Amino acid sequence: MLGPPGSGKGTRAHIISELYDLPVITTGDMLRTAVAEGTECGKIAKSYMDKGELVPDDIVNGVVRERFQKPDVEDGFILDGFPRSKGQADALDQILEDNNIELTHVILVVLDDKVIVERLSKRRSCPKCGEIYHLESKPPKKQGVCDVCGAALIQRDDDKPDVIKHRLEVYAEQTKPLIKKYRDQGLILETSGVIPMDQLRDHLKELLG
Ligand code: ADP
Ligand code: ZN
Repeated sequence: MLGPPGSGKGTRAHIISELYDLPVITTGDMLRTAVAEGTECGKIAKSYMDKGELVPDDIVNGVVRERFQKPDVEDGFILDGFPRSKGQADALDQILEDNNIELTHVILVVLDDKVIVERLSKRRSCPKCGEIYHLESKPPKKQGVCDVCGAALIQRDDDKPDVIKHRLEVYAEQTKPLIKKYRDQGLILETSGVIPMDQLRDHLKELLG
């Protein structure tokens, strides 16, 4: 999955995962877990994530490489939030080669910066079960409380307005160039970030064929 922060990569990855019964490898979640567990990697990662910077390639590449040791990737997988830099794309090429895997699709989610800022600044997340809410389009039934598990909702530190702006700059500088790489390989499938939730499943089914 390729696309700017807040474009809905995660939502789409989840639907595709259900459609094709594939595991999702989400670097953002893996890094947040490392932060919560207070591991060495987590401590380093946190300082970058809070600022909206990319976590250094060697850390992220290591986390992903380790993930590929698990047998569940053998019949396919979805990468969500990786690669995000040239160094990561190179590492991915190496991981794929080492594991004799070929990429089949790169799904590019396209969305306007203005919409992204509006979405992310009103996003609230459940720190316990990972459920995502939006203050206007998907508010929790009870204000500030997760519908699913009852935990208190939080705003991620990197969903604060200044940090959102910086994340978009980082995307433009470091991640956007990867679009060309995968377009040249003929792998890009483009999809809009504004497709309504209730049509997303059918849309993705059609897109992936
Ligand atoms: P979003 O896609 O909305 O930015 P993520 O959960 O994917 O949210 O990422 C949150 C933060 O985690 C990023 O801003 C970055 O600091 C870090 N991160 C996630 N994936 C990567 C990656 N592949 N490389 C470097 N940093 C990453
Ligand atoms: Zn919850």
